[in-house]
Amino acid sequence: PVRVRFAPSPTGMLHIGGARTAIYNWAFARAMGGTFILRIEDTDPERSTEENTQIILRAMKWLGLDWDEGPEIGGAFGPYFQMQRTDTYAEALETLKERGFAYPCFCTKEELDAKREAAEKEEGGYAGYDRTCRALDPEAAAARIAAGEPHVWRLKVPDDHGPIEFEDAVYGSLSFPADVMDDMILVRTDGTPTYNFAVVCDDANMQISHVIRGDDHLSNTPRQILIYEALGFPVPTFAHLSMILGPDGKKLSKRHGATSVEEYCERGYLPDALVNFLALLGWSLDGETTIIERDVLTSKFSLDRVTKKDAVFDETKLDWMNGVYIREMTPGQWVQASLPWLFKAGATAEDIAARPDWYLALYPLVAERLVRLDETADKLAYMFWGADVELDEKSVAKVLAKEGARADEALRGCRAILADEGVAWECEPLQEACRTLTETLDMKAKLVFQPLRVAVCGNMVSPPLFESIELLPREDVLARIDKTIA
Ligand code: GLU
Repeated sequence: PVRVRFAPSPTGMLHIGGARTAIYNWAFARAMGGTFILRIEDTDPERSTEENTQIILRAMKWLGLDWDEGPEIGGAFGPYFQMQRTDTYAEALETLKERGFAYPCFCTKEELDAKREAAEKEEGGYAGYDRTCRALDPEAAAARIAAGEPHVWRLKVPDDHGPIEFEDAVYGSLSFPADVMDDMILVRTDGTPTYNFAVVCDDANMQISHVIRGDDHLSNTPRQILIYEALGFPVPTFAHLSMILGPDGKKLSKRHGATSVEEYCERGYLPDALVNFLALLGWSLDGETTIIERDVLTSKFSLDRVTKKDAVFDETKLDWMNGVYIREMTPGQWVQASLPWLFKAGATAEDIAARPDWYLALYPLVAERLVRLDETADKLAYMFWGADVELDEKSVAKVLAKEGARADEALRGCRAILADEGVAWECEPLQEACRTLTETLDMKAKLVFQPLRVAVCGNMVSPPLFESIELLPREDVLARIDKTIA
């Protein structure tokens, strides 16, 4: 059975690259009818925090990447925090000792540094630990341990090991010479396992079938294979994902702007859009389809369509995609997702509860041109101004000041129409009535409608005018016009 895991270290937020790795694991598990596991790799006590773990869990939930085993829900292969699995690493170390694949090393940091420095000056450079402690007499070593001498445990890389070969699901056949492999540290002086050791123990004990992760780990893979072999565990299938590059061709980083899922959430991107967008950074359904809904992704995702070409993060494409998903929302979904920005614009929870339909009616005002939900705050602020209007200076200069008396004349005409109780307070009849005004005053439509737009909405690029007016109370609209004329 397919069992895959996403194994973030809680040393920071969930990065865009990590999110893509999570999406691939999740989609692969779903498409294969397998199990998706979330494991928190918190063995670095200095950099791991509970807060970061919470941020990562929140980001996973926001993206809709539900896990089948892991934090909060547990599972048959738990615990799912590495710090709670230390007994399994100790056990694995015992196995390695019994099988003759681990030895204690007493070399101090100073000794190792000096050796490295000396070797770096020689031709060929530093080739890894010189295996001094491999040659120690086992009984003498045991006595030193019993005496409490600090030591690490190292992997004894077999001398006669041929090349380490494996078939990567993305990169194809790969081969690494084993004779250059360092006798890597498995367990540190303080008893904590190294990343390579812990990850192999966990992946083996959790019966992971496919390890899908970023190719920054590619050089770790042959080392990990040596550990699998030493422990006598079957080696899983590996799939390494190419890098994500910024538009300038350099590895995506802070320089390029937002890099954490949290930031994308705060900037008004939709989780569906972000998942769709990230899924396409290195995978394609058929080479051309760009809008791929979640259910298609979770039924059609396959590793053989993952490319080893580096992917370029194109925010223009993400913006476009986000707009597409916004337009697919129902008004109710939009209100729900836009709450933070509606509140910023002036909405309150009580008001939303009191007149939900009014809020639903805001959606068509903005849906057509919205790229990100956070634009809602500015775009719809005028709907919450009551009798006041904040006039945009540029619009005032261009529309009101320039036309002067003629703008006032148009506004007075509109005011009379909007004050007329005989005209239904609805978009069409109001607009029609104001249109006749353009004939009466012999003015171009623009000359009538632009001043009205600025007076009611505050600027000349607002959402549709009469659709907005219909949603505002008559007395507020009239008050705004009066203030603008005065
Ligand atoms: N904790 C590792 C990381 O965040 C996991 C690497 C792996 O998937 O093996 O990079």
